[in-house]
Amino acid sequence: MTAPLRPVIVAGNWKMHTVPAEAGELARVIAARTVDPLVVRVICPPFVALRAVRDALEGTGVAVGAQNIHHEPAGAYTGEVSAPMLVGLAEWVIVGHSERRRDAGETDALIGAKLRRAVEAGLRPILCVGEQLADRESGRQEDVVRAQLRGALGGDGDGGPAAIPGSLVIAYEPVWAIGTGRTARGTDAAAMADAIRATLAELATAERAESIPVLYGGSVTAGAIGEFLAEPAIDGALVGGASLKPDEMAGIVGRAGVTAAARAAAA
Ligand code: PEP
Repeated sequence: MTAPLRPVIVAGNWKMHTVPAEAGELARVIAARTVDPLVVRVICPPFVALRAVRDALEGTGVAVGAQNIHHEPAGAYTGEVSAPMLVGLAEWVIVGHSERRRDAGETDALIGAKLRRAVEAGLRPILCVGEQLADRESGRQEDVVRAQLRGALGGDGDGGPAAIPGSLVIAYEPVWAIGTGRTARGTDAAAMADAIRATLAELATAERAESIPVLYGGSVTAGAIGEFLAEPAIDGALVGGASLKPDEMAGIVGRAGVTAAARAAAA
C-alpha cells in the first residue's frame, strides 16, 4: 500500500472572540497574510460572525468552519444551531472540543451523533480528542483517547456498524495544553497520532485510517509548530489563541507550507 498524500491543514478556532463588525476584517487580514495554495486553511469564528467571515473570505481559498452543532437536525432545542442551518455559511465544523466536553457535558456518544449530523449535511468534521493531565501522568493517555474515538465512532448509535467518514479530520488536543502555553512534545503527539490511526484501522480499515488527517492542538504558535510538523504522522494544527493574531497565523501557515511542499515533492 502506498502512503496517501494527506493534506496539511491549519484550522483556527476563534472560540468566543470577535463581534461580527470586526470578524470580517480580521479574517481578511489573516487570509492575506497566509496565502499558500498547498496548505488547507480554515477559520472557525463564532456562529454570529459566520456570514461576515464567509463574505470576507470569498475568493481567498480560506474555508469557514463552525465551532459546534446540535446533535439533531431540527427540533425544540431553544438556542441551538443544527448542521443543516450552517449549509452555505460554513464548510467545516469542530465537534467534541474539550471546552464543550467540560462546560456542556458532551459525551462521546453525543459527539458521535453530532459527527453524523455534520457529515449528513455535507460539513467536514474536525473531531477533537485528548487526555487530561492526570491521564498522561498515569500513562493512560492512549487508553483515554482510544476510548473517546470508539465512543464517538464505534457505531451509528442504533447498533449499526462503525462508519469512518472519508472527510473526517481528528485533532489531538491534550487538555492540559489548551490555552495554557504548555505544549506536548512533538514525539508524544506523533505517538498519539499512531495510536489514533491504529484505532481507526480497528474501527474501519487500515487504508481509511492512513488517509485521515491528524492535527495537533494545544498552545500552538509560530514558534512551536515546527516540532509538530517535523513529525510525518502530524498533518497540521488546530490553533486557538494564536489564530486571532495575524503575525502568528502567518508564521504557522508559513511553516505548514514547508511541510506541504516537502510532501508534494516526495509524492
Ligand atoms: C483550541 O482551542 O483548540 C486550542 C488548541 O487552543 P489554544 O491553541 O489556545 O491552546
